[in-house]
Amino acid sequence: MFVSENLTVNEENHLCIGGLDTVKLAKEYGTPLYVLDEDLFRKNCQTYKTAIEKYYNGNGLVLYANKALCTLHTCKVAMEEGLGADVVSGGELYTAIKAGFPTDKIYFHGNNKTDEELFMAVSSGVGHIIVDNEYELVRLNDIAKEKGVVQNIMFRIKPGVDAHTHSFIQTGQIDSKFGVALENGEAFEIYEKAHKLSNVNPDGIHCHIGSQIFDVEPFMKAAEIMMNFAGDLKDKLGLMIKKLNLGGGYGIMYTENDDPVPYDEYIKHVADVVKDTAKARGIEIPQILMEPGRSISAPAGITLYTIGGVKDIKNVRKYVSVDGGMGDNPRYILYESEYSGVIANKAGDERTDKVTVAGKCCESGDLLMRDAMLQPSEPGDILAVFATGAYNYSMASNYNRIPRPAMIAVSNGEAKVIVKRETYEDIIKNDVF
Ligand SMILES: *Cc1c(COP(=O)(O)O)cnc(C)c1O
Repeated sequence: MFVSENLTVNEENHLCIGGLDTVKLAKEYGTPLYVLDEDLFRKNCQTYKTAIEKYYNGNGLVLYANKALCTLHTCKVAMEEGLGADVVSGGELYTAIKAGFPTDKIYFHGNNKTDEELFMAVSSGVGHIIVDNEYELVRLNDIAKEKGVVQNIMFRIKPGVDAHTHSFIQTGQIDSKFGVALENGEAFEIYEKAHKLSNVNPDGIHCHIGSQIFDVEPFMKAAEIMMNFAGDLKDKLGLMIKKLNLGGGYGIMYTENDDPVPYDEYIKHVADVVKDTAKARGIEIPQILMEPGRSISAPAGITLYTIGGVKDIKNVRKYVSVDGGMGDNPRYILYESEYSGVIANKAGDERTDKVTVAGKCCESGDLLMRDAMLQPSEPGDILAVFATGAYNYSMASNYNRIPRPAMIAVSNGEAKVIVKRETYEDIIKNDVF
């Protein structure tokens, strides 16, 4: 009935997540409130792990892309599920290390890492650094030399695949700030250069072609291009590629209009391409890495809000305002993203009211849903927005000096706070006067 299997309706007509009544959760913990179904998060981790077992005989590693949702608790859960970590900044790396993540299973990304971040990554023994460009390569080699280590690296490659998605989240083509291109020889040249440097070991290749992708073809095409590139590196440089990192980007269901391919199917088709191309090029099948973020955490999260004013502008639009908005979920204002949801205290009723849900920030674009169908609402009702487990908390801000919401995790029928609600004290704590 709803976009995710873990959402149900109880006898009181209330929405439940992981079996817990969301109206009660809102009352107990306050709103806005991020709620993460830890059991579903774990299950999503296992879907990828199982697929690696099945299609690559276990010769692979699933890296949870922390930028989707990074907290000490989610790092710990991903670690317990046997995943590695993809981090993109010193802050995410710090969080993963503090959560106890084994650093050899951490992969460090980013298109403009600072010296401080590179130093931190090398010193902490990060498994692989995904190098973005030549400037970074040279600095990293120097830092590794200074530390007396040889750092494993891979480069981020633009395979030139169009992933049929919102242009802001399309990153595989040449006009992108990320990585080095294949088509103009840039990628080959950088491997040639790295191969000669003493303190880096370029044993992998990486691509990430975009996000919220619903087609299998772009992934298959990218895998083929990358495997052929591995073949070229072997033939022309004698360089053996041991790891093929295919990035993330698997699409999820935000509304009933989204129709994602089952992840198992993606991986099966991609595995066929990897195996066929390996055979054709006479190379070994490398260890396969993938970096799902959104598809692990987004479906596991919802956000609860309290409805305030309802403004029915006759023949124009009906605005329903909530006590959060772009501060806790900036995806509408960034991408005009669509969401679905329900009035949690009327969850089983039909959604007959066409409304636009507005946040409380001083921006006209501060919306959470536009022309969405909800149950008729009134002030004091609880709104649940679905699939907010990725790129919500991780992208949250204190715009208008609004404190960020708390996050709770539900597991085995119990709830606990994993991120405390910010206070006004927190808001001013770094101010100096
Ligand atoms: C954003 C990103 C991911 C995760 O993408 P999802 O769409 O959340 O699966 C993985 N790898 C890299 C390099 C990324 O930039």
